[in-house]
Amino acid sequence: MEHPPYLVAQELESLLGDPEEPGTAFSHARSLELDENEEFPADICRQLEGWGLQEFYIPAEYGGRLTDYETVMQVMRVVARRDLTVAVGHGKTYLGGVCVWISGTAEQARRLAADIRAGVPVSLALTERAHGSDLLAGDVRGEADGAGGWRVSGEKWLINNATRGSLLSVLTRTAEDGGPRGFTVLLVDKRGLAEGDDYHCLDKIRTHGIRGADISGITFDAAPVPADAAVGGEGGGVETVLKALQLTRTMCASLSLGAADHALAIALDFTERRELFGRRLIDLPQARHVLASAAADVLVGEALATVAARTVHTVPDELSVVAAATKYLVPTGTEGVIADLTRLLGARAFLKDVHARGMFQKVDRDHRIVGLFDGNTLVNLNSLVNQFRSLSRGWLRGGGDTSGAVRAFDVAQPLPPLDPARLSLVARRGSGVMATLPMSVAALRAEAAGRPELKGALGAAERLLAVTGRVHESMDAYRTVVTDVPPAAFDVARRYSLCLAGAACLGLWAHNHRAAESGRTGALWRDGVWLWPVLDRLLVRLGEPDAGDPDAYPPLLERLRAARNAGELFSLFPFSLHGSADRPTGAPGDAAPQAGGSDSPAPRPGAPGGAAAPSRTPGEAAAPSGTPGDAAEPTHAPGEVGAPSSAPGDAAAPSHAPGGDGGSPAAVPHAHTDTRAAVGGARTPEGTSC
Ligand SMILES: Cc1cc2nc3c(=O)[nH]c(=O)nc-3n(C[C@H](O)[C@H](O)[C@H](O)COP(=O)(O)OP(=O)(O)OC[C@H]3O[C@@H](n4cnc5c(N)ncnc54)[C@H](O)[C@@H]3O)c2cc1C
Repeated sequence: MEHPPYLVAQELESLLGDPEEPGTAFSHARSLELDENEEFPADICRQLEGWGLQEFYIPAEYGGRLTDYETVMQVMRVVARRDLTVAVGHGKTYLGGVCVWISGTAEQARRLAADIRAGVPVSLALTERAHGSDLLAGDVRGEADGAGGWRVSGEKWLINNATRGSLLSVLTRTAEDGGPRGFTVLLVDKRGLAEGDDYHCLDKIRTHGIRGADISGITFDAAPVPADAAVGGEGGGVETVLKALQLTRTMCASLSLGAADHALAIALDFTERRELFGRRLIDLPQARHVLASAAADVLVGEALATVAARTVHTVPDELSVVAAATKYLVPTGTEGVIADLTRLLGARAFLKDVHARGMFQKVDRDHRIVGLFDGNTLVNLNSLVNQFRSLSRGWLRGGGDTSGAVRAFDVAQPLPPLDPARLSLVARRGSGVMATLPMSVAALRAEAAGRPELKGALGAAERLLAVTGRVHESMDAYRTVVTDVPPAAFDVARRYSLCLAGAACLGLWAHNHRAAESGRTGALWRDGVWLWPVLDRLLVRLGEPDAGDPDAYPPLLERLRAARNAGELFSLFPFSLHGSADRPTGAPGDAAPQAGGSDSPAPRPGAPGGAAAPSRTPGEAAAPSGTPGDAAEPTHAPGEVGAPSSAPGDAAAPSHAPGGDGGSPAAVPHAHTDTRAAVGGARTPEGTSC
């Protein structure tokens, strides 16, 4: 089944040519050279702009190609698969502009669209050296200039494209006391300022990954910023940023998917070629087990990211949940895949110029930033903990927007345009994606009744449903947690994310498998070939005893090998990798060496065997240490989501926890913003981070 977002991404892939061919402008050789020199990939960015990549950062209503986030995700995945430095360096302009798309005026949006179209880099400047994730502690100040504008002073640090960019969305403290209504996003235009007097850019900050990126910062010195630079009105900065982060965190999945695609291909090629003990590595059970597990984890990420990107359009008011789970699970999932494949590659993961030009190591280094910026792993889990109350209630009531979730699952359904007004800081009714889980399992049960080949997937789905019930029970114990989130609550949030990913996988399969069974990836969809191992891997990562069914994996591994052999991306939907024409095609399981790299003994056809059962990933099986009921029932019920009663500016710091439903949320000095409280004007600890 051809899927339009992949077809658009295919246009770019075809234009970019074979990355293994050193003569190609955007080749792996060129990326490695730039990385070695810590040089910004300006020539590659120009090529991408020649194709019009920047048009995907501009909503269609302002003349761009951003019609849907699923397409943007697949387009950025193409870039990230070749080089994360380029994806992060160029894609930053989307992050820089997103506040305007959400909260700006039509005039601001039109002007910004014209700049982006012309290739002007735009930055998002939230972080400060002293405050990291604690956005409400921000010290960059805007003092009223008496004419409606501001004089901005202070330093933003660790800012992508701060030096190269002309425009920056700067989160600025515009009220002396700060607080959730004390910050404004100012779209600062460096072109109207005097460099040296009004501002100066910091030197490049050297990094271990994405070494060519312009990671720097900027210091303002009473820089004049006009009134019309305020995005979303004075005092609306925190709300705007929190909503913008829901979109950017969802889109970060494209970076992780691209990195995982690349790492998996490099490792697979190695196992197809490497001979040990008279056999190829791919024929050894342990190697097969690692590859098959990694392949399943990559598809977990793709399925969740696909549903998340579509949820942006169909259930924006629940994106606070889906985005946090996606930003947590897809980067950490890819980190796990890379770690496992590193062990598989052995010395080849450590050596330059031997296998795939040493590219694996760059993928590893570059990808580490994805789980760190735009809200780190703990910030996203914390954000889920803060929504436990509505999520557990929603689960019990079957609440959440299930019809919106179904529209997200069914990829044949056209996506409505994003309505930014529907973005919400909390999912008040719970998660519709999660609420569909029992229905998806029931649909699979009905289907499996007449199709014994689906029994394995069904068994895994039934187990996932049972675990999901238990996870929601565990959430009860932390419904009232606001400050000092205990480690066990983070673990429940982690488990919640895995269950949500399972719901996304089952929903995607249930609503598409009939149509998807035809076409180039049809064999992956038939008989639950991807569904069973993917659900099994989720059970393994949930720490379920006896998960890791060896029978779930062999067909998936053969699909992985067949896709590589045919020059196709290993993916749920068809996508041809450029350069595939050079690769010999053969029956699934035939080895096909990748061009490039010097580590290339002659391949021989392999005999597909059984993939060994993936074992539990160390550290992933820890049960939450707090059992339901551990947390003493508070004197006051926790503040109901989205119903803070404090007036804006109320953020002075009472030391108590939030009051009852509709009561005043607590404020804690130098803690994070609570998504429940941000708009209402109080400050409680939640990870508000970039
Ligand atoms: C290469 C690079 C590019 C960047 N680009 C940008 C950019 O363009 N714009 C921008 O504004 N910023 C950018 N950043 C900043 C980045 O977003 C921050 O580094 C990030 O938000 C985390 O801040 P921190 O590293 O200072 O960690 P801190 O906030 O100091 O946190 C330290 C540690 O505390 C723990 N922690 C944090 N929050 C919580 C929580 N809620 N619960 C429990 N534990 C917690 C975590 O273990 C965390 O790692 C960039 C950073 C890097 C490295």
